[in-house]
Amino acid sequence: MPKSLPVLVNPHPLLRQRAQEVTSETLAQLRREGFIDDLVKTMQVEDGVGIAAIQVGYLHRIIVVQEGMRVRVYINPTISSRSLRRESDVEGCLSVPGVVGTVRRARSCTLKALDVDGKLVVRKARGLVARIYQHEVDHLDGVLFIDRAERVVAYDPQKETPKV
Ligand SMILES: [Zn+2]
Repeated sequence: MPKSLPVLVNPHPLLRQRAQEVTSETLAQLRREGFIDDLVKTMQVEDGVGIAAIQVGYLHRIIVVQEGMRVRVYINPTISSRSLRRESDVEGCLSVPGVVGTVRRARSCTLKALDVDGKLVVRKARGLVARIYQHEVDHLDGVLFIDRAERVVAYDPQKETPKV
């Protein structure tokens, strides 16, 4: 059974590290150990719509993204293109509890990654999913949304701010 892992909270130093590229051997091992399933479970238990492996202290370039009803796992993801058009929206982070911030990001972007079987996937998204891609890839480079936010305010439980 997948288990939920403890999420690291800012200012934990690991959150500022750069995660490492995942080799096929590492991917096979992480799958065998159930880590990928545990990471998905953690996102769900924490009520997030995205999570990066670094948030549970694994310095591997792996992210999980809730895309509508589907949960997708991306290995070694990169943002291969971003729209010139940007938009500001409010986002929160499982690793920065208690606050949310307005962050200006590309409105749409293309994500290049491997899936859990090691096959190349190219995904174009806009709006929330594009925002999650950019937030999670930032995590892999040790960047938190509070570094980019125009305005950081207390989390308001009345508002449904996505946590990623
Ligand atoms: Zn986050």
